Amino acid sequence: MQTNFSAAQLADPHVAESEKILRKCVHCGFCTATCPTYVTLGNELDSPRGRIYLIKDMLENGRPADKEIVTHIDRCLSCLACMTTCPSGVNYMHLVDHARAHIEQTYRRPLLDRLTRAMLAFVLPYPGRFRAALKLAGLGRPLIGLLEKLPTLKPVAAMLKLAPSSIPPASPIASPAVHGGQGTKRGRVAILTGCAQSVLDPAINEAAVSLLTRLGVEVVVPEGEGCCGALVHHMGREDQALASARQNVDAWMRAIDQGGLDAIIITASGCGTTIKDYGFMLRLDPAYAEKAARVSALAKDITEYLAPLDLPEPVRKPGTIVAYHSACSMQHGQKITRQPKELLAKAGFIVREPREGHLCCGSAGTYNILQPDISAKLRNRKVKNIEATGAEIVATGNIGCITQIASAAKLPVVHTIKLLDWAYGGPKPEGVSEKSLVAPE
Ligand code: SF4
Ligand code: SF4
Repeated sequence: MQTNFSAAQLADPHVAESEKILRKCVHCGFCTATCPTYVTLGNELDSPRGRIYLIKDMLENGRPADKEIVTHIDRCLSCLACMTTCPSGVNYMHLVDHARAHIEQTYRRPLLDRLTRAMLAFVLPYPGRFRAALKLAGLGRPLIGLLEKLPTLKPVAAMLKLAPSSIPPASPIASPAVHGGQGTKRGRVAILTGCAQSVLDPAINEAAVSLLTRLGVEVVVPEGEGCCGALVHHMGREDQALASARQNVDAWMRAIDQGGLDAIIITASGCGTTIKDYGFMLRLDPAYAEKAARVSALAKDITEYLAPLDLPEPVRKPGTIVAYHSACSMQHGQKITRQPKELLAKAGFIVREPREGHLCCGSAGTYNILQPDISAKLRNRKVKNIEATGAEIVATGNIGCITQIASAAKLPVVHTIKLLDWAYGGPKPEGVSEKSLVAPE
């Protein structure tokens, strides 16, 4: 694509980066076919190519964002299916991240939208605040029907609908500690405790730490870790996202200095995609660029780390049929497609893949709150495809997808690591029926 930026505009490194990306796009439109919002809405401006034109026009003319561009960029899930499909290697992720930051700096949203976003950014990344908010959500639940009728309050209704009626007690697994590996030491890793996941389902990291330590891997939960910054990054709140990134880089660098790390393990693929991008996000910060690149190189999804390990024979052979839902951040963001399925099959599960596996479930960070109508359409389509597999359990590697799919599916939705931990001697994941299990051989 031909671009017309001035030398003065290109002096801004963010603009220069976006210009490089724009020049790679050849307008072929292959990406439109796999874009969930184009597939759902059928509007070119809600396709990757349409959004690329809108962003180009906004940046090239150096103008503030307007209502039209905000509407179409807000509808983008950042699912990155377009990056998997694009034959020209267009880095849509970095382009849309730049556009979102530009929108945040130049566009004044309507009051309720501003308040909703400010509240999400204040609550979600902090486990204590999120836990308190979930407890309060019970009081608002009777109002869901009323709130849904008022278009501007739909996000509040969506939030209340997604809030689980009960939350597990806080788990010590989120506290700083060193969990020693059993037997011969096979490695030393840090694990991200994160934010929302540690409140909604701490058993995910409990399963990861339990399995890793049984395999002889020492697991460090470093002091000072926090939210990876993805939730606010996708809202264009760059300063808050970069502050989170720096805080985590500092925490992991201390862990590296205190005994080395073979990997930084992440059990939520949405976080994994962002942490693997820390090197890019902090490239212009001389104090952090090198350290952030080092951290990104160490970041690994739990299945990516487990795949090359020599795992023992499973202690149970469940024979349960599992539908594997590959989160967008897993398959498109991190290009991890093979490992989770292979690990599940090796552990004795019969793995089935739903149709249209490339399409997002509509979770996408805060998307299911901010764009509840499109999100619900995508969720229902996803659940229909999952249920058509005839599976007894859904496995996936991202807490956002678990919450989203579980809000409509009739079958249990479980993190992949919980199934693996169970197959190798850990506890049966909560919500999985004993009935569906085949007795050990
Ligand atoms: S990130 Fe997803 S929703 Fe956004 S343009 Fe690409 S394919 Fe479409
Ligand atoms: S597939 Fe790639 S090159 Fe083709 S229109 Fe989409 S982003 Fe541009």
